[in-house]
Amino acid sequence: MMQPALDPAPAAARLPQEALLDSPDPSSSPTWSGAMPWLRDSRGEWLVGGRPLSTVVAAVGSTPCYLYDRARLTARATALKSRLPREVLLHYAMKANPMPALVCHMARLVDGLDVASRGELRTALDSGMDPHHISFAGPGKSDAELEQAHATGILVNVESFRELGVLARASERSGVPARVAVRANLPFELKASGMKMSGGARQFGIDADRVPDMLREIGAIGLAFEGFHLFAGSQNLRAAAIVEAQTLCYDLAASWLDRVPSPPRTINLGGGFGIPYTVQDVPLDLDPILENLAILAGRLRGDVGGANLVIELGRFLVGEAGLYVVRVIDRKVSRGQVFLVVDGGMHQHLAASGNFGQVMRKNYPVAVNRVTAESESASVVGPLCTPLDLLADRAELDVAEPGDLVVVFQSGAYGRSASPRDFLGHPDVVEALV
Ligand SMILES: *Cc1c(COP(=O)(O)O)cnc(C)c1O
Repeated sequence: MMQPALDPAPAAARLPQEALLDSPDPSSSPTWSGAMPWLRDSRGEWLVGGRPLSTVVAAVGSTPCYLYDRARLTARATALKSRLPREVLLHYAMKANPMPALVCHMARLVDGLDVASRGELRTALDSGMDPHHISFAGPGKSDAELEQAHATGILVNVESFRELGVLARASERSGVPARVAVRANLPFELKASGMKMSGGARQFGIDADRVPDMLREIGAIGLAFEGFHLFAGSQNLRAAAIVEAQTLCYDLAASWLDRVPSPPRTINLGGGFGIPYTVQDVPLDLDPILENLAILAGRLRGDVGGANLVIELGRFLVGEAGLYVVRVIDRKVSRGQVFLVVDGGMHQHLAASGNFGQVMRKNYPVAVNRVTAESESASVVGPLCTPLDLLADRAELDVAEPGDLVVVFQSGAYGRSASPRDFLGHPDVVEALV
């Protein structure tokens, strides 16, 4: 994960701020798929929740901080949900951002939550989401986690015969059959995905050719079979690839329907919906995906009356609603290159540093919280004693001085919780819903 990924990736980091200012219509902005563009006020400050960034940061109390915009979270989830066919449920995959207040906010907007650990399960239960609509996936669920999952009545996406055994014993002790879905390791992968999670040998799920055995076992033990879970990959901006994967997933689930111990209630088709991180990234076109989901929902109606399809999304729902905000500590020039040394970095935002599994490092969109007459090429680096602590490599930015705020956009997913926060012992980063 921590490969020295320092490919030079200059240019392309700067938001077309002028375009954003001139055109509140997001469709005319080539960079942003967000439902609302980020705007500046007349003094050049970024507006967050309708207020200038410096005011919000003062209220939050310190930098570095993550700011999550409630209105954007709401807009993204409700816009997608309103377009989904009635049979398709929208789940939030909490590992993208498990901040408790954010999860509570999301719980009111989606149909269910997906957790990947008992820590996330606690947060999910606290959010008020009905346990019936919480599901648990992960390749290494401990006995204690499985027993807790069973006790709370959530759905377990079973990924091994060992898990089945633990749930069988817990069910026998309590007299209440555990709710299970079978997570299959797919015989194909989601093409053009940022992270491959299927196809070939994987630790996730059980191989598709063993699913019939597992179905037989679930029937023999008498667990509450509820369906299938099929997750092909992450961070995909190609609608055609997602459509293809969803159809292949549905076909596969349909091929097992003559062997299920009881009719499935849900077929979870995973997610993989990506968001743009650079000006070259074209935002995901939802239309073909929604059309295809309508087709699959129609097939499901014919195949299993009353069942639902589920899509589970993390990054797509929350990624564009978050900002990571740092303050410039120092401004240095080394052999002609400008370095803005800021008070946060890879220990709090590993993904923006390019070390969160990225094959090629690319700058996240970064901007200074003011507008200057001239712009300059500057690298934004953190306070850690490693060249990996890089938030922007030679980005074209407004001229910043110590004390200025710098914003990293697209930071709502895989930020704080996906970062090595103890590395070098700096204080933890503050998070706030705005
Ligand atoms: C990580 C994960 C997700 C969310 O992926 P995103 O790319 O953030 O949408 C969904 N389901 C499972 C099983 C996952 O592991």
